[in-house]
Amino acid sequence: YRQNLAAIIPADRSRLPLSPVGITLFLLLSASAVIKDFISQSRELNLTKDRLAFLAYHDDLTGLMNRQALTDRLQQAIAQAQRSQSDTTLGLLMMDLDHFKRINDGIGHDVGDQILTAFANRVKNRVRSSDFFFRIGGDEFAIVLTQLKQPTDAAVVSEKILSSMEDPFLVNDQKLYLGCTIGISIYPKDAQNADQLMIRADSALSEGKRDRNIYRYYTMQMQKDAARKMQLLVKLRAALHNDEFHLVYQPQIAADGSIIGAEALLRWNNPEIGSISPAEFIPMAEETGAIMQIGSWVIEQACAASHFWESIGLPSFPVAVNLSARQLRDERLVSHISGCLRYYGLRPDRLHIEITESSVLDNPEAAIAVLHRLNNLGVHIAIDDFGTGFSSLSYLKELPVDCVKIDRSFFLELPHDNRSSSLLLGIISMIEGLGLSIIAEGVESEGQISFLQTNAPIVVQGYFYSRPLPQDEFIKFVKELSQKSSSQLP
Ligand code: C2E
Ligand code: CA
Ligand code: CA
Repeated sequence: YRQNLAAIIPADRSRLPLSPVGITLFLLLSASAVIKDFISQSRELNLTKDRLAFLAYHDDLTGLMNRQALTDRLQQAIAQAQRSQSDTTLGLLMMDLDHFKRINDGIGHDVGDQILTAFANRVKNRVRSSDFFFRIGGDEFAIVLTQLKQPTDAAVVSEKILSSMEDPFLVNDQKLYLGCTIGISIYPKDAQNADQLMIRADSALSEGKRDRNIYRYYTMQMQKDAARKMQLLVKLRAALHNDEFHLVYQPQIAADGSIIGAEALLRWNNPEIGSISPAEFIPMAEETGAIMQIGSWVIEQACAASHFWESIGLPSFPVAVNLSARQLRDERLVSHISGCLRYYGLRPDRLHIEITESSVLDNPEAAIAVLHRLNNLGVHIAIDDFGTGFSSLSYLKELPVDCVKIDRSFFLELPHDNRSSSLLLGIISMIEGLGLSIIAEGVESEGQISFLQTNAPIVVQGYFYSRPLPQDEFIKFVKELSQKSSSQLP
């Protein structure tokens, strides 16, 4: 204020052409102007403060409340329920759109934004005014249901939301069908505080994500699973350092009965927990990033094994290692592999790597670049679990792939089911048409083998010939096999 006055009254007062009354009048008028100015400024300041408070609590795109608001509202609702000492039941729904990333990355963020807004509007029309609706992340939303008569009411709301997804989203004259998955936790049954309630709804959501376009309630089993996961995550951190991993090798057998390769498969034995399946711990190692170190160790071990087999005079065949999506995005992978090959004096085609289509789709550009560099190095590349994912043949054409491993599920119905047989033979001839080699995975029975030998004599990897074996047993297996085939020679 003082500064403002100083600006109005010039420093050289002798030049003022006003009488004392005029000066007083002038000062009064000026002061009122300054005060008006001050009031309007502080009004603006208040508006800005309100706007900031709104922004801190709301999401720009949909106008819904945000994650911070969810925590606060949930805490308030719980506190209110506890104060009222009634048997208030609250429901927390956490949901996200299925495969939204594909739309965002594939069609564009503008379309993604339009869908998020449209979804928010659909849901808004299906919840009561007493419920609170939030956007808590990219395509993640949450609803707090405050007036549940019973926990099953949360299913009613979920079904309404899921049925709203049956109509397509119209974007740029295009119809897009999308699903959404919902995880539900209930206060006070599942948890008594906001954080736990959110963690549990999130567990239910993760569980639902296995099937998608579905809702799931939090269950005791999920609690057990979460506890086991925590335990494994802690142990996993020290497993490599404590020498708890080893590799086993499963032979790949050609139609003439000779061994043409081996897949290295990781095993984890923890002294307290026992042996843990890779299907359980590999996804965890991916999640935490531990797979980078573990994966490097696998490559080193497999190269060392291959070198050892050569040194003891086993017949020459390549060893295959599995690579996870994260490894495939890593720039250092190629130099690590070429370093290992050089160190053990292995020809690059003695190492095969196995990747799944989904691990490529995770970040196609980075993955394809890495695959081309590996291919240039001379390392062979196999597509694993073919037929379980999006399995597009165009992908096979674009990627520098040498081999396709057809998933176990294709052989289960053999040899009796005609449709399965024709489907399989069709796939085999298409892959062969592309000039790629083929491995049949998980072949277990005599019937399956004789069908393949008659109709499509391809390489087989499965329990029929051998389970994955520890190194010493594997060497024994290979030696016996080569003795057998040399005794069969004329
Ligand atoms: P995968 O790469 O598809 O490996 C084949 C799996 O099928 C192995 O399971 C193998 O033991 C099993 N299998 C082989 N023949 C048969 C059969 O005739 N019948 C049946 N029912 N199963 C058969 P495993 O060793 O439990 O590995 C499971 C998955 O874990 C692997 O599937 C792979 O995705 C992953 N994995 C294993 N080792 C590694 C690794 O070093 N790195 C990465 N990133 N993943 C690995
Ligand atoms: Ca594999
Ligand atoms: Ca496989």
